[in-house]
Amino acid sequence: MKIVDAKVVVTSPGRNFVTLKLTTDEGLTGLGDATLNGRELAVVSYLTDHVAPLLIGLDPHRIEDTWQSLYRGAYWRRGPVTMAAIAAVDVALWDIKAKAAGLPLYQLLGGASRERVGTYGHANGRDIPELLDSVRARLAEGYPAVRIQSGIPGLKAVYGVSDTDETGAPVLHQQARPLVEDWDTAAYLRHVPTVFEAVRAEFGAELPLLHDSHHRLTPVQAARLGKDLEPYRPFWLEDCTPAENQEALRLVRRSTTTPLAVGEVFNTVYDYQTLVTEQLIDYVRSAVTHFGGVTPLRKLFDFAAQYQIKSAIHGPEDISPVGMAAAVHLDLAVHNFGIQEYSGHTPLTDEVFRHAYTFSDGHLHPGEAPGIGVELDEELAAAHPYAAAYLPVNRLHDGTVHDW
Ligand SMILES: [Mg+2]
Repeated sequence: MKIVDAKVVVTSPGRNFVTLKLTTDEGLTGLGDATLNGRELAVVSYLTDHVAPLLIGLDPHRIEDTWQSLYRGAYWRRGPVTMAAIAAVDVALWDIKAKAAGLPLYQLLGGASRERVGTYGHANGRDIPELLDSVRARLAEGYPAVRIQSGIPGLKAVYGVSDTDETGAPVLHQQARPLVEDWDTAAYLRHVPTVFEAVRAEFGAELPLLHDSHHRLTPVQAARLGKDLEPYRPFWLEDCTPAENQEALRLVRRSTTTPLAVGEVFNTVYDYQTLVTEQLIDYVRSAVTHFGGVTPLRKLFDFAAQYQIKSAIHGPEDISPVGMAAAVHLDLAVHNFGIQEYSGHTPLTDEVFRHAYTFSDGHLHPGEAPGIGVELDEELAAAHPYAAAYLPVNRLHDGTVHDW
C-alpha cells in the first residue's frame, strides 16, 4: 500500500480546525488533527509546503519510521507547529492501519483496559452564584467531575469565564486582534479558596473538583494556593506555574499535597523529564494533537506509569473531533488512564466531523468503527472557511503583559 494524496483541509464551523487527509492507492483514507489554536495557518504551511510532498509514495503501515523521519529529518526538532504537523500525519497513519485491519484503533493499542472513559466538564461563573448554577448544569449533563473557574471581584475578564457564555459554550473572538483580559494575582489567591468553600458547601465532599491556574503563578504563590486548597481536597490544581521551568514544581511539590496536573502546552517527552522522574506531578496533560500524535503520547504514558503518574489528555473545544477521537481510543487502552477533559463540540462541528465516539452519562467511548471512527464532510467544511481568531492576552492593572 502507498500514500497517493495528502490534503490539508481548513474549516471554521464556529472555530478553526486544520485536518490532514491521507489517501492510499487502495482507497483507504486517514484523518489527523493539526489544529493549533490561534496559529492555525503556520501548521497548514508546514504540512502543505514541507511534509505532504514527502509522504507521497510512502507505505502508510510504517508509522514509527515515518514519525522518526519527520522528527529527526527536519533537524529543527520540537515546537508546537512542528509537533502538531507530525501529530496529524501520525494519527492519519494509525487511522489507515486500523481501517486496513478492520479494527477500531484502541484494539491495535492493546485493547480496552476499561469499559468507558471518565471525563470532567467545565463550570464557569462571573461570580460564585453563577458558578454554582454552572456546576449544577454540568452535573445534570452527567459529568462525574467538574473544573471550577470563577470571576474575581475587581477584575473585568478572567480566564475560563469571559470566553464562555452562561451554558459554558465558548464565545469566540474572531477578530484581527486578541481580546485583552486583566489580572491581579493577589486578588486571585484571596478569592479561589472561597470559591472552593462555596462549591463544597453546596455539592458536598465527594464531587471531584478541578481548578486551572493557567500558568500564572510563581512557585511560592502556587505553593500557597495548593496549601490553602488542601482542606477542600481538590482532584487537581492545573498548570499552577509556567512549567517550561520544570524545577519550579519542586518547591510547589514540597509544600503541598494538592495533586498537580501539567503539560497541555508541552510537545515532547523532554518537557516532562524532571517532572516525571522526580514525581513532581500527578497527571500528564498533553493532547494527541500537540504532542506529535498517538505514537509519542503512548510512550509518554508508559514512561509516566513507572512513576504512578496518570494520563489526563487536554480536550478543549479547539481539539477537533479527529483529535478527540484519537484521544478516546488511547484513554480506553492505556492502563494508567486518569481522566479526560471533554467539552463537546457544536452540532455544526459534529456535522462536519461525523464521529463514532459517544458521550453519555459523563463517559466517552470510541465506538467500534474501524480506524479512529471519524468521517470528514469536505463539502460542508468548504462552506465554512477560515476566519482569523486569537486567544486573549493578559495584562496587569499597570498594563504589564502577564501569562495568559
Ligand atoms: Mg488548562
